[in-house]
Amino acid sequence: MNKAPHEKELAITDKFTQKLRDLSYEATNQCVQCGYCLPACPTYESMGKESQSPRGRINLVKMAAEGKIDLQKDLVEPIDLCLGCRACEVACPVNVPYGQIYEAAKEVITEHQKHEHHKKQKNKPKIQTKVVDFTLTSLFPHRNRLRTLGNLTWLYQKTKINKVVQKTKMINKVSEPMGQFEKILPELEAPIKRYKYGQKFPALGETKAVIAFFPGCIMDAIMSKINRLTIELLQVIGCEVIIPKNQKCCGALHSHQGMKDGAVKLAKANIEAFEASGADYYVNNAGGCGAMLSEYNHLFGQEPEWKKRSEAFVGKSKDITEILVKFGPLPFKKEWNGIITYQDSCHLRNVQGVFQEPRELLRSIPGASFMEMEGSDRCCASGGIYNLMNFDESMKILDEKMYKAGKTNAKTIVTTNPGCLLQMKLGVERSGTGDDVDAKHIVEILAEACLIK
Ligand code: SF4
Ligand code: SF4
Repeated sequence: MNKAPHEKELAITDKFTQKLRDLSYEATNQCVQCGYCLPACPTYESMGKESQSPRGRINLVKMAAEGKIDLQKDLVEPIDLCLGCRACEVACPVNVPYGQIYEAAKEVITEHQKHEHHKKQKNKPKIQTKVVDFTLTSLFPHRNRLRTLGNLTWLYQKTKINKVVQKTKMINKVSEPMGQFEKILPELEAPIKRYKYGQKFPALGETKAVIAFFPGCIMDAIMSKINRLTIELLQVIGCEVIIPKNQKCCGALHSHQGMKDGAVKLAKANIEAFEASGADYYVNNAGGCGAMLSEYNHLFGQEPEWKKRSEAFVGKSKDITEILVKFGPLPFKKEWNGIITYQDSCHLRNVQGVFQEPRELLRSIPGASFMEMEGSDRCCASGGIYNLMNFDESMKILDEKMYKAGKTNAKTIVTTNPGCLLQMKLGVERSGTGDDVDAKHIVEILAEACLIK
């Protein structure tokens, strides 16, 4: 029997509510509303609203799953404004899996939005949504396209067109955030110096371990020098390095944008590629990618064979700092002059639980004086593409971070994730301290102290 139009619509709405309920309801019920997570949340601190706190967001997801509030009207903004930094998970005394709740909400909201756009042809997706969709489906899964983009950026810098663009503020006319980020793009290394997928690098001296390296997408495209230095640091501490040929993007951005199917596809390809390497450890140098790789097992609840393979993958997945500490010490050859401070990558700290190793490595650099920054464990508001999508909120948090970094008198701000690194560079630029202060990835500073160029 054909349903009346209003009944049909109700059924579809129920489908999304039901999915949200299936994916997150049990987890939302674990929250005892104690509020211990509130002081840990950067968006609660900057916006001061319960709806922008972890407890508030959990409650809203719960109410949406019960059909008491509207998915689009009431849930989209609080979920969009969440940084996904997962500091609330660490603060929670009863281990509420906030990440799972957040990603379930993202997934259902994205599906619902697609359905709505499809239904009302006149209600075309916003340009911002189209750009994100294109980037995640047609750019990130294709590393050659990203490399081409990286090579074009190198050419753009080499021919000094970037100086003209900056002087005339051309990009700012299209988008102010893009204009600000263009200014702080690191100087790209010549394409000829790029490592190749499938290439092997021998250990210097005795081989202590075989490492399969995950170069990432952004790192591979625009920070390939940091990846090259990573490989060389691993070699000097006695690791053989392989770059598995058929690896893909980790899928973190897909997962955070609610594109779970895309993330699952990429995860399967990576598990296969890394298994084939036969390596002892799978190493990355990007906190955001590392967090995704370390949670591949969460993607395969319904597929026992992949669940098993993903658990083995997760067991071998490590951050570069863990490996450098495990197989070090590094052969430092230079005295560092000046104060260093460290900004945690949220995903490295809160998801992977790695925060001691980076500090241990920085403290071990001869001559360096390490100063802990107040709130170094709090998100810098880079958050994947959060800073592009929610520029004003992100800059409020970043400017406060720079004030705290300034109090350490550090000349070098170190971090461990490409997004955080760009955000730190932007923060330095915005604070007007660019002549004195620099932001670096931990691999850059360690390589420099070992005289690896
Ligand atoms: S993930 Fe970060 S921003 Fe989001 S609710 Fe938790 S602490 Fe707040
Ligand atoms: S998420 Fe955890 S810390 Fe936050 S209110 Fe719920 S139970 Fe308390």
